[in-house]
Amino acid sequence: MKDSLQIALLGLDRDELTALVGGIGERPYRARQIADAMYRQRVESIGQISTLSQELRAKLAEKGVTIGLPRIENRFVSQDGTVRYLIGFADGQSVETVWMPEGDGGEAGDGSEAGEQAERFVELTPSGAEARLENGESIAALKRCATQKQEQDRQPGCSQDQQDPQAQEDRQRPDRPKQGQNQGRSTICISSQVGCAVDCQFCLTALLGVKRNLTAGEIIGQVCAVLKDQNVSPPEDRINLVFMGMGEPFLNYENFVKAARLLVEEVGIAERRMTVSTAGIVPRIHDFGAEKIRPKLAISLNASNDALRTRLMPLNKKWNLEMLMAAARAYPLRTREWITFEYVLLGGVNDEPQNAREVVELLKGMRCKVNLIALNPGPGIDFTTPGVERVTEFQNILRAGGIPAFVRRPRGRDIYAACGQLKRTVETATSRALSSPSV
Ligand code: SAH
Repeated sequence: MKDSLQIALLGLDRDELTALVGGIGERPYRARQIADAMYRQRVESIGQISTLSQELRAKLAEKGVTIGLPRIENRFVSQDGTVRYLIGFADGQSVETVWMPEGDGGEAGDGSEAGEQAERFVELTPSGAEARLENGESIAALKRCATQKQEQDRQPGCSQDQQDPQAQEDRQRPDRPKQGQNQGRSTICISSQVGCAVDCQFCLTALLGVKRNLTAGEIIGQVCAVLKDQNVSPPEDRINLVFMGMGEPFLNYENFVKAARLLVEEVGIAERRMTVSTAGIVPRIHDFGAEKIRPKLAISLNASNDALRTRLMPLNKKWNLEMLMAAARAYPLRTREWITFEYVLLGGVNDEPQNAREVVELLKGMRCKVNLIALNPGPGIDFTTPGVERVTEFQNILRAGGIPAFVRRPRGRDIYAACGQLKRTVETATSRALSSPSV
């Protein structure tokens, strides 16, 4: 009952906050105080907004107003430092959000600068750990990890820790950088929907189907939760954002656009540090070009002709390559802006030299670059990862044709955090949420 009356503040802009505080007889400057506390300090509860009087905090709580910061339900840490978070919302649904710290020279892996710094060719041959992903043993280990976490959550000491999350964090991670001291260039990959409706044949997220759209607050909430957990704070810490997690941002267009605006205006992440990737929802590409605040645009091309693209991405039936290329060519690029095309290489399917030549033809004359992604494997995905020579050959043909082409280094494959791998533990999380006595 009470849940249905709750109003989450996260996701509200200044005007909406002003209206909300006005409705309880408060002056507009209260909206600024709330926005600061929520978006800059990332408080978890109304009670923590120290700039508000105790009386006002009580009044807001009485009205059912909450911050609405999502909960980190689980985290998996990769050998390469990537962290995959499982982030849960009030209704028990959850998504995955990925933190990719700098540190191993894998800048091209996060998608945020479309491989600008990746001229150097990266090692693609899967390491032992990556290869193990394809066998049941490693998957079982992943499940064991999730189960262990659930067990830990049930330990008696846990509730005490939860009363003081900061103390818990400090005990567990004394080596965490202090805010403003994160020297690197880190990237957060965020989700826009629970699951995805687009049905790309090589993507694990597609196997989930779409459960629902995320609200603007839930999109921003992922960023706030991860910034808090990593103890970093933009703009002092350099943070890139990619809307390349679960879901199709352009099928949740309004919420995505509002979230991007608030991330710029309130959280303090510059527009040029954000990239959104679309599978090719053509009408929204046109709309997006007219937005005042807009992240950089990436388009998942993934095939060089209509027959192949329709097979791999059924949405191509609705918006074919001609329509997609027309939208891309009409897209109003800003100074020094390029469109990025992502191309997932599937061994023996779309990685032939002929495919590369067709891509050159498609993109000729466009201010664009191509990010090549060798397939990240997963159970239920019936394609193979091409070898490094094959990827190099494809890249070389593009470059010879005048198209800047980069290879995106896989990040966090060993924990299912790489492109197209965000799926498995959502199911785990959902079943846990349903069986957990606390929900
Ligand atoms: N729905 C949007 C946002 C997701 S971005 C889009 O499709 O663009 C995820 C990127 O990872 C896309 O470029 C997608 O083509 C790519 N991808 C999907 N599955 C993959 C896989 N198994 N291996 C490598 N890349 C994959």
